Amino acid sequence: MDNSLYMKFDAKSQNEAFARSAVASFVIPLNPSLEEINDIKTAVSEAATNAVVHAYKDELGTIEIFETITGNTVEIIIQDQGVGIEDIKTAIKPFYTTKPDEERAGMGFAVMQALMDEVEVKNREGGGLIVKLTKHIN
Ligand code: ATP
Ligand code: MG
Repeated sequence: MDNSLYMKFDAKSQNEAFARSAVASFVIPLNPSLEEINDIKTAVSEAATNAVVHAYKDELGTIEIFETITGNTVEIIIQDQGVGIEDIKTAIKPFYTTKPDEERAGMGFAVMQALMDEVEVKNREGGGLIVKLTKHIN
């Protein structure tokens, strides 16, 4: 493992911009293109926003991010300890949202998949969601 980063912060929308910038900054030593940096920012933004919006009902929860750089590959794990997703296969489909009334498009996972080389979504054993994003920097 060449480099790694861990951070944990309140699942509040005002922390999302910090999280996406921090994750993107950590990749700078790999000399990413502006497009690659923006792809990472956007994908992290979608995953972190999901944790803020969907994971916790009436409690203030936390978001954890693990980032590792191995060779020219960056792996970003964004996880919460919220309600998780009952049917992940359905939830990651484009246009699927459980919050249509809040102007959600149901495109978060689709965007992550379009911008990253790999996207893995699974429930945590103790509750909550794990989203693993992988991107190879050229
Ligand atoms: P958009 O991202 O376009 O604003 P959205 O968040 O509803 O809309 P996705 O990001 O694709 O769409 O997520 C699809 C659905 O998966 C959500 O509506 C929600 O039901 C569920 N979901 C996503 N992330 C989480 C999470 N961290 N915890 C619990 N449920 C989640
Ligand atoms: Mg979303």
